[in-house]
Amino acid sequence: MNTPVIRPAPAAAPLIDPFGRAISYIRVSVTDRCDFRCVYCMSEDMNFLPKQDLLSLEELDRLCSAFVARGTRKIRITGGEPLVRRGIMTLFRSLSRHLDSGALEELTVTTNGSQLARYAQELADCGVKRINVSLDTLDADRFRAITRWGDLGKVMQGLDAAQAAGLSIKINAVALKGVNDQEFPKLIEWAHGRGMDLTFIEVMPLGDVEAARVDQYLPLNQVRAQLLDQFTLEDSDYQTGGPARYVRVKETSGRLGFITPLTHNFCEGCNRVRVTCTGTLYMCLGQEDAADLRTPLRASESDYLLVEAMERAIARKPKGHDFVIDRQTQQPSVGRHMSVTGG
Ligand code: SAM
Ligand code: SF4
Repeated sequence: MNTPVIRPAPAAAPLIDPFGRAISYIRVSVTDRCDFRCVYCMSEDMNFLPKQDLLSLEELDRLCSAFVARGTRKIRITGGEPLVRRGIMTLFRSLSRHLDSGALEELTVTTNGSQLARYAQELADCGVKRINVSLDTLDADRFRAITRWGDLGKVMQGLDAAQAAGLSIKINAVALKGVNDQEFPKLIEWAHGRGMDLTFIEVMPLGDVEAARVDQYLPLNQVRAQLLDQFTLEDSDYQTGGPARYVRVKETSGRLGFITPLTHNFCEGCNRVRVTCTGTLYMCLGQEDAADLRTPLRASESDYLLVEAMERAIARKPKGHDFVIDRQTQQPSVGRHMSVTGG
């Protein structure tokens, strides 16, 4: 009998969508819960998922690792507020092995900053280098009004701790008409003065909140035009793999990003998918289509069924979203809140 020739298994192919975009970035929401209730994100009294519906931290690790094996190079942990999930550092610690092996380029987190004073050093120890912190105002009363439950002082302590731990910080601020728009120059000077990047985000029509979206929505092309009265904005080709377009502010030498899903569709270069804390994969933030990964994950100890479900889902990633905010369109474009899919 001839001895069979044993060939090494071919390296698993990256996940490529129908438009030729390689999926190299996943955002993973580890909880839908939060210690804030930001007015553009959540309604005041939210119904959260029963805990048993959530993937365990071990299951989240398995899911992320299956994506890493298929070409994911960047993982962003988000929520809800990711740092309020009990034991969350276990997930960061276990995922950091993919950084050590070189399979993963970046492990990062988007947070409201409320728990950073406690976790910043541990995050840095797990190989996290850059984090996004959401902060829309520097005024304590306005901060309380926007977040309903947040404490600006705690977030500031968190930022101090993160910088002391050597983490690079990008501040994300949602542009809210008539709420924080007068503060933008101050936010720029403050963030850049502390060596942090700053990105403005347009409000997206995700989920019902009490306020009308049309009252919150401030197109960033208007913001940019107003900033030109005070600042020189120089074009920059800086990219983070996310949807922001950056300029360099000459006066502060800092980076300023704009995320403009409504005024400038950012879909063409999209390399991202999102996984919720129940293992639902959304191929696009702005579309309803989704794939259940929890069932195949739990059906077998091998990843075969899971990977098959991932491949089937990526094969129907849409070209882009179709967000609309106007007076006629009263319904949110997408029924789920941002806290479900994660920012
Ligand atoms: N809790 C964390 C935080 O606030 O950074 C992570 C999750 S939060 C859903 C992620 C990002 O989404 C935040 O920067 C938040 O400001 C943004 N966000 C939430 N709802 C939004 C909406 N309707 N439109 C635009 N951005 C939104
Ligand atoms: Fe919580 Fe972040 Fe949503 Fe604010 S934006 S309610 S901090 S999940």
